[in-house]
Amino acid sequence: MRIGAPAYTDLFVVGGGPAGLAVALAARKRGFQVVVADRAHPPIDKACGEGLMPDGVAALREIGVELTAADGVPFRGIRFLDGDLQAEARFSNSGCGFGIRRTRLHEILVRAAEQAGADLWWQSPVEALENGSVTAGGRSIRCRWIAGADGGHSRVREWCGLQPVWNTGRRIGLRQHFRVEPWTDFVEVYWSQNCQAYVTPVGSDEICVALLGTEKEVGVEELPSIFPKLAAHLAAATRSGPARGGMSMSMRLAAVTKGNVALLGDASGTVDAITGEGLHLAFRQAAALADALAIDDLSPYAAAHRRLQRMPQLMARLLLLLDGNERLRRAAFRALATIPSLFNGMLAFHVGGRPPSNLSLGLLDRALQVLSPARVLGPRG
Ligand SMILES: Cc1cc2nc3c(=O)[nH]c(=O)nc-3n(C[C@H](O)[C@H](O)[C@H](O)COP(=O)(O)OP(=O)(O)OC[C@H]3O[C@@H](n4cnc5c(N)ncnc54)[C@H](O)[C@@H]3O)c2cc1C
Repeated sequence: MRIGAPAYTDLFVVGGGPAGLAVALAARKRGFQVVVADRAHPPIDKACGEGLMPDGVAALREIGVELTAADGVPFRGIRFLDGDLQAEARFSNSGCGFGIRRTRLHEILVRAAEQAGADLWWQSPVEALENGSVTAGGRSIRCRWIAGADGGHSRVREWCGLQPVWNTGRRIGLRQHFRVEPWTDFVEVYWSQNCQAYVTPVGSDEICVALLGTEKEVGVEELPSIFPKLAAHLAAATRSGPARGGMSMSMRLAAVTKGNVALLGDASGTVDAITGEGLHLAFRQAAALADALAIDDLSPYAAAHRRLQRMPQLMARLLLLLDGNERLRRAAFRALATIPSLFNGMLAFHVGGRPPSNLSLGLLDRALQVLSPARVLGPRG
């Protein structure tokens, strides 16, 4: 039981990961009293590629968090590599992406939320929601609003009956840091059939490798046979810290709000990790949710959430289509390598620099639905 905890708060946030801390920050800016409860203790680590796309850096800045050179490493674009093929694109006017250790990002967000005046409860698992109150760490607190930011296996989502209606297959994710000087200022994505390894520089002498695929391919020991070019870069590198595993998939809910509860971050739906858009989405959703709380109405948040997840979901489908189809992938990479403006344009589209018309988005979405494997789920997911 917590001693001296308040009896009431305007906003109770379940989960103090990136999404939960971001909404705490955005809501504090609006003057709300905020309590955040997380079952873990900071800094919280998680399997992650540790790359923030430029739109993620901008979204973070908008909620008051500025990353500095001491926090990580900027990157200037994305490079795809598949055997002998290589294609790359630079971020245009949208600025740089940023590679940052997950624990460092968490420390920064925790400090910012504390300084903004949020009440942070660690090692406080949320056990129940009922009638406008939340039970966490053995004590109940009344609240006006509840934000469910408790990740991909969200209990809040389950308690509210907001189940997934659509998902792609699950892929295994594995992260491993290596002590080595980054050899490029791009994020490199190495492709193989049903598997990718993406490399993000996160320090002056450290990189993060995230592997995504099926159990067969996802293991650091498999790197030399599946990604020999990457293994050559790592020949003299040592592993720094333990490997960490997770699950990746795209998943959508029919609704992200119910009564006084709103979901955000991975709890509210996910995009496959290959997009590198999970954190950006969480930060944008946090700002949109705080805007909705300020007018005492969650419906604009539901609409903003639909709009925000559309592009990343679409890009995830496109990339997963390439993941499973070697001929298509190699043809696409050849085109991207031959016509650099095509890849630059796609990247600008991906990070929101140049939004396409709704019509072209709708058509692309339909085409990808036909071409790519996905599951429509029953009421229980
Ligand atoms: C392999 C992999 C690589 C990825 N790479 C990238 C990348 O490069 N860039 C990017 O932007 N995104 C990436 N992502 C996605 C990104 O990690 C997620 O989108 C992001 O972590 C979502 O944050 P969140 O706060 O919603 O959830 P989480 O980070 O999962 O946080 C949820 C929090 O809720 C807490 N919690 C859960 N249940 C309870 C409870 N009952 N009571 C209290 N607390 C609870 C947990 O302890 C946790 O701290 C990757 C994902 C994977 C799997």
